[in-house]
Amino acid sequence: MGFDEFGLISFVPFTKVSDFVDYLRDGKLKGTHCKKCGAVYFPPRPECVKCWAPESEVEWMDFSGKGTLLTYTTIHAAPTGFENKVPYTIGVVDLAEGGRLLAMIENTPDNEDDIELNAEVEVEPKMVDDNRLIYVVKLI
Ligand SMILES: [Zn+2]
Repeated sequence: MGFDEFGLISFVPFTKVSDFVDYLRDGKLKGTHCKKCGAVYFPPRPECVKCWAPESEVEWMDFSGKGTLLTYTTIHAAPTGFENKVPYTIGVVDLAEGGRLLAMIENTPDNEDDIELNAEVEVEPKMVDDNRLIYVVKLI
């Protein structure tokens, strides 16, 4: 299985790290890390762009899903595939193990000004709409 069922619309149905979607389906948040230099990647990368180690030196690793909220915004004019979700709030999360992601905040308070920067968050895979896989952020 590839990336064809990841996200509300998949623009990249095939990559070297397509196992990522299988892990999400199993409820696991995984990225990759370089055995040679220790670099951590989320989203996963098949090769290391820091020390140029090949695919054989990069392996999958578990992510706890814990992180901190770097910034957020509420979307009122959505891109293709998200039109029926407006308004929705997205956040940029720095994951505890390293790596960064952008995802919808699932439990946005009524007043978005109540969201605190650097708040502790949890990221988890979620199945939405017609069998589409995304990951969401929860403020904790
Ligand atoms: Zn490396």
